[in-house]
Amino acid sequence: MAQDTTAASLQSTRFTCPSCKELAEQAWFSCYADRITNPAGVPLRIRGDDLRRLAENPQFPPEVREQKVAYWNKVNGGEVFLERWAPIHSDLFVAGMELSVCHACLQPAVWLGGEMVYPRHSG
Ligand SMILES: [Zn+2]
Repeated sequence: MAQDTTAASLQSTRFTCPSCKELAEQAWFSCYADRITNPAGVPLRIRGDDLRRLAENPQFPPEVREQKVAYWNKVNGGEVFLERWAPIHSDLFVAGMELSVCHACLQPAVWLGGEMVYPRHSG
C-alpha cells in the first residue's frame, strides 16, 4: 500500500489530498466575506425539529427535500464544502485564508495563516 505522498503546501498545486489521500492537482481559491443579514443576525443552521419539518415540507418536491436535508446534515456534522449559492458582490477580502480544492474528489481544504486547518487530521 506504499503510495506516493507529497506534503500539502501553500506553494504547491499538486499534493496528497487530505480528504481522498490521492496525489492530485489542487486548485487554490481566495476567500471573501459576506455579512450575514438574516433577521437573527447569526449563521443559519437548520437542525432537530426544524430539519424534520423541512424533510416533510410538501412545498418542495421529494428530491429537493432530500438535497436540503443532506446539505444540513453535512453542515451540522461539521463538514466544509463548496456549494453554489446566490451570487454575492463583496470587496471584503479575507487575507490569510485560502481554500485548496482537490481535482480528484472536489473536497476543499481550509488554510489559515498558511496552515491547513481542515480537514482535521485524525490519528
Ligand atoms: Zn481529494
